[in-house]
Amino acid sequence: MPTFRTIKSLTQCLKGYRTAGLRVGFVPTMGFLHAGHRALIEESVARCDITVVSLFVNPTQFGPNEDLDRYPRALEADHDLCRTAGVNLIFVPDASEIYPPGFQTYVEPGPVAEPLCGAVRPGHFRGVATVVTKLFNIVQPDVAFFGQKDFQQCAVIRQLVRDLNLPIEIVTVPTVREPDGLALSSRNSYLSAADRARARCLSRGLFAAHAAFQAGERDSQRLVETAQAQMTEVDQLQYLQLVDARTLEPILGSVEQPAALCVAACVGTTRLIDNVLLIPPPQALADHELELVSHVIGRQATAGAAGPRPS
Ligand code: AMP
Repeated sequence: MPTFRTIKSLTQCLKGYRTAGLRVGFVPTMGFLHAGHRALIEESVARCDITVVSLFVNPTQFGPNEDLDRYPRALEADHDLCRTAGVNLIFVPDASEIYPPGFQTYVEPGPVAEPLCGAVRPGHFRGVATVVTKLFNIVQPDVAFFGQKDFQQCAVIRQLVRDLNLPIEIVTVPTVREPDGLALSSRNSYLSAADRARARCLSRGLFAAHAAFQAGERDSQRLVETAQAQMTEVDQLQYLQLVDARTLEPILGSVEQPAALCVAACVGTTRLIDNVLLIPPPQALADHELELVSHVIGRQATAGAAGPRPS
C-alpha cells in the first residue's frame, strides 16, 4: 500500500484517481490507530472507491503543557490496520511539510469552538480547523469521515465546511467502545490498570442519563445530575454539559431538541472525553430538526440507533 510523505507525491497520485472519476474518501487521524479509527476507514471503504488515511500528530492543536511530545506512535501497526481495512493510500507528512518555515495563516473557528473543549484548551480548535482545511485542500476528498467521540470537533468541521463552501460531504461515525463502555481513544494507552477501571464511570454516567432520557426525563439539570452521580471516580471533572447538538449552546430547562451530553475529565494525568446523543423521538421534532438529526448523526439517525451502544 503506497505511503506518501510529501504533498507533491500524494497529489500527483490522487490526480490520476480523480481523472478516472473515482470517489475519494478521507480519514484524517493522528495515528496509533484502534477499532474506532477502523470504523471510520470501513465506512469510507464502503462508500468510496479510494480511501486515503492521514497519520499526522498536528502540533498546532496542542497547548504548551499538553501531550504533544509523548503522544503515542506506532507506524508499523498503523500500516497493518490500514492494509487489512482496505485503505488505498497513507499520507504521513512531517510537521515541516505541513508547516514549512514562514507559515503564518490560520483558520479561526467561531462560537461553536468556544464552549466545552474550546474553553479548556484555548487554540485547540484553531489548530484543528487549520490542519483539516489544509488536509482537505491537499487531498480534495469527496467525503471525509470523523468520529462522534470528538463531538465538538465534528460540529466545528461541519461549520467550517458550510462557512467556507468546501465541496466535501462530512460523515460522522458513531463512537466505538470497549465492551465495558469506555470510548476507544489513543490516549487510553496512558491509563494504568487502576485508572482504566476508574475511567469506566464516564460512560456509565452518560448511559445512565441516556436511559433516563429514554424513559421520559426531559429536565436538563436532572439529566446532568444523573450522569454526574456516576462520575465520582475521576480526579477532575472538567465539564459535564448538556448542549444543543448543532450550536453547542447550553440547554437549560427542558430538552426538546437534538442534544448532546458531553464530558471531559482527568483520570490520573490522562484527559478523556466522551458524549452521548439525546434525540427526542422523530414525531416530536419539527422538520428542520429532523433534518438536523440526520445532519449531525448521519447514519445513526436513519438506523434508529441514536443511543449509546455499550456492546
Ligand atoms: P485522532 O487520531 O484521535 O485524531 O482521531 C481521528 C478520528 O478518529 C477522529 O475523527 C476521531 O473522532 C475518530 N475517533 C477516535 N476515537 C474514536 C472512537 N472511539 N470511535 C469512533 N471514532 C473515533
